Amino acid sequence: MSFVVGLTGGIGSGKTTAATRFAALGAGVVDTDAISHQLTQPGGAAISMIRQAFSENFLTPEGGLNRKEMRELVFRDSNSRRKLEAILHPLIRTEAARCVGLLSTPYTIIVVPLLLETGSYRGMIRRVLVVDCSECAQIARATTRPGMDEKTVRTIMATQLSREERLAQADEVVVNDADLLHLERQVDAVHWKYIALAASC
Ligand code: ATP
Repeated sequence: MSFVVGLTGGIGSGKTTAATRFAALGAGVVDTDAISHQLTQPGGAAISMIRQAFSENFLTPEGGLNRKEMRELVFRDSNSRRKLEAILHPLIRTEAARCVGLLSTPYTIIVVPLLLETGSYRGMIRRVLVVDCSECAQIARATTRPGMDEKTVRTIMATQLSREERLAQADEVVVNDADLLHLERQVDAVHWKYIALAASC
């Protein structure tokens, strides 16, 4: 398996933006959010299990996951959240490992929002890269998404590690508290570090 880096960060911190820059520099990128979306589309591999565990009410008329209904449920009921995670996380991990195996890039970035919360990618990754920014910036960025008001974002943040807990486990940190150029400069520097590390192992 290639040299794999786990990229994580809180909601709205800039994970996707950083990953896009890594991809532009030639890194392989596997995005577990995108995999999760594929698995929960109509006909996706998770749909029958979700139907069985949660009923038809959490599916759209087309047969995909009703994200709004499910989000409301899992953020008011932690048992439901755990039940959904028990369905999705193993499927996502298996598909992510398959995607990593298909890549022949010098190294691979795997984007996992709950990388440190679940710990389940530990065996796959060599480094932990944290995208960090202030809570204010997280809220300002995440609330630009449809259906994401400040209350919802804060509820999601409460299910994630604090900045301090996340930073304590980081091998590398990219601070996304200014403009995009500031982020890209840091990503570029970390990219060359990973190129060197990957070449030496
Ligand atoms: P989520 O956890 O919701 O998936 P994320 O961590 O992947 O989010 P992004 O999608 O990369 O975060 O960024 C959130 C929003 O903030 C996006 O609209 C993005 O364009 C914007 N953004 C990210 N970084 C910056 C920045 N440095 N300056 C301005 N806008 C930014």
